[in-house]
Amino acid sequence: KKQQIVMDVRVHAVTMEDALEWAKEAVLEGKPRMIATANAEMIMIAQKDPELKEILNTCDLVVPDGAGVLWAGEKLGTPFPERVAGADLAEELLKIASEKEWPVYFLGGAPGIAQRAAARFMELHVPFKLAGCHEGYFDSEEEKKIIKDIKKSGAKLLLAGLGVPKQEKWIRDHMDELGVPVSMGIGGVFDVMSG
Ligand code: UDP
Repeated sequence: KKQQIVMDVRVHAVTMEDALEWAKEAVLEGKPRMIATANAEMIMIAQKDPELKEILNTCDLVVPDGAGVLWAGEKLGTPFPERVAGADLAEELLKIASEKEWPVYFLGGAPGIAQRAAARFMELHVPFKLAGCHEGYFDSEEEKKIIKDIKKSGAKLLLAGLGVPKQEKWIRDHMDELGVPVSMGIGGVFDVMSG
């Protein structure tokens, strides 16, 4: 994949279509992989958070999300092909999950939000197979249960809405154990979907 360095953070020069093709292949291959969506806010947080920066610079796919990142691409003389917004990418991945019958796990948000987001999305858009869901506020005891739950759910796609940088760190720390082929941090997208 072509890439561009924006303030020390590597961002892949991919289109929405490229990202979706990549996700389909990742599910076929089955090895756990991670998508991050780089917007200006995340890149700013990464300036002060070496762990987040390291994750962005080594994770499997970082899509250009947001006007600031696109602008940086222009300034650097190698424009990104298009904006791939996290919310849009999540929605397109859910449509593919529906077509391909991938079970999807929703993790994050206040109690009941992930469940409601899944139900609303299914009513308004496409039904998909919900592998499970869990709120995003948990202690280490509860975390063990969540990990077990995701492992046995057979999820092919994990959407984690725990906020930046918690979601990126959580995915990185647990992805190998979880064995889910595609995991992605989605920030507050469940809040939007549930409303
Ligand atoms: N959140 C969570 N657990 C936490 C902290 C945050 O589930 O420990 C959720 C919160 O409920 C919200 C999302 O993470 O749904 C963060 O949303 P925000 O728009 O602030 O995220 P950003 O994309 O800016 O990081």
